[in-house]
Amino acid sequence: MQSITLLGATGSIGESTLDVIARHPDKYSVFALTGHQQLEKLALQCQRFQPQFTVVNDAKSAAQLQIMLAANNTKTEVLYGTEALCQVASAAQVDGVMAAIVGAAGLVPTMAAVKAGKKILLANKESLVMAGGLFMDAVKASGSELLPIDSEHNAIFQCLPANYEQAETNGISKLLLSASGGPFRGWSAEQMAVVTPDQACAHPNWSMGRKISVDSASLMNKGLELIEACWLFAVTPSQIEVVVHPQSVIHSLVQYVDGSVLAQLGNPDMRTPIAYGLAWPDRMDAGVAELDLFDIARLDFERADLVNFPCLQLASDAAAAGGDAPAILNAANEIAVQAFLDGRIGFTQIAEVVDNTLSGLELGEPDSLDAVQESDKKARSHSAAYITGIES
Ligand code: NAD
Ligand code: MG
Repeated sequence: MQSITLLGATGSIGESTLDVIARHPDKYSVFALTGHQQLEKLALQCQRFQPQFTVVNDAKSAAQLQIMLAANNTKTEVLYGTEALCQVASAAQVDGVMAAIVGAAGLVPTMAAVKAGKKILLANKESLVMAGGLFMDAVKASGSELLPIDSEHNAIFQCLPANYEQAETNGISKLLLSASGGPFRGWSAEQMAVVTPDQACAHPNWSMGRKISVDSASLMNKGLELIEACWLFAVTPSQIEVVVHPQSVIHSLVQYVDGSVLAQLGNPDMRTPIAYGLAWPDRMDAGVAELDLFDIARLDFERADLVNFPCLQLASDAAAAGGDAPAILNAANEIAVQAFLDGRIGFTQIAEVVDNTLSGLELGEPDSLDAVQESDKKARSHSAAYITGIES
């Protein structure tokens, strides 16, 4: 029986994780569930899974949740704040932690789980983007098992040899990172300048939270994933090629020097990588329908359009620049995406905000989590000021 803490239980990944866990009550129990704004959903999840703890962000939410839990006779203890998130991520009783908080808010609790040597199911790609070096050092130091949940990275993980350590020593020539191309594939920048948040969030193949949906539409998600892959698999950006594959059936591929290319295929359903991560090195039912190749009939591939989707290039440049460039990129993107979702800037201005922030700040080499958060803060205030300036 494995005891699991789920950071970001109320989100899209959180719900899919609980769906998988509910299929295997003999294997998994829930130690803690955390959430931010959807308190009613969190209360229902606590009622159903009876965790020992639940964590929200502030005292007011904690008091509200407490009343809801008392009303449905749930004994779960309510905590709040970052310290509490770290506690439930690192508690001695916990075996595995699903890191599924969205954005920079996931960094500190995920790192707490890493430092405690837990098995990490990593959905929160932003923590690797922000602090990849520190993160991977901490994984090595604590001996924690790191399982990528992002579907592309999970696919690559599945296609790598079991003894994988360094690309050079395993005959790997390239990682091919799949991208659906998002809802605006084939569109020009002019066409994208006037799209609404709902259009940007209408992903053709995946149902996800709003932030990652906008990132998928701008290809920033692929950029963040490129940085994530560099850290996870110890490769440079030049060893990764983005392959636009609109059907989202091949989730990524590994190319070897002998000419072999291994791919992982499946229906676009996050319960597959989640079940893989939970059960690894075994496999178990994820509730996902069998892939029907005859129904799919064809698979298409094209190059990414870096001209109309500048976010991918910005991310790739930030990866090459190193230091705190990826953390700055990530922070500026979070601020810009929120401003777009709030109707304050246009979709194509997201890249403009990120570009302006990266070129307006001096890059540093953060050597601690505090230093990373300092870069993050600086980038957020620069982006916010820039947005105020361009807002129409
Ligand atoms: P979501 O918006 O649906 O859920 C986010 C979760 O984080 C919620 O439980 C929310 O309560 C919590 N949260 C948000 N802000 C918080 C804060 N400030 N403090 C504490 N908790 C907070 O997002 P999602 O789509 O489930 O994505 C979660 C993470 O997984 C992201 O990093 C995303 O990039 C990654 N991911 C998601 C998918 C997907 O299919 N949804 C695929 C790959 C990777
Ligand atoms: Mg992905």
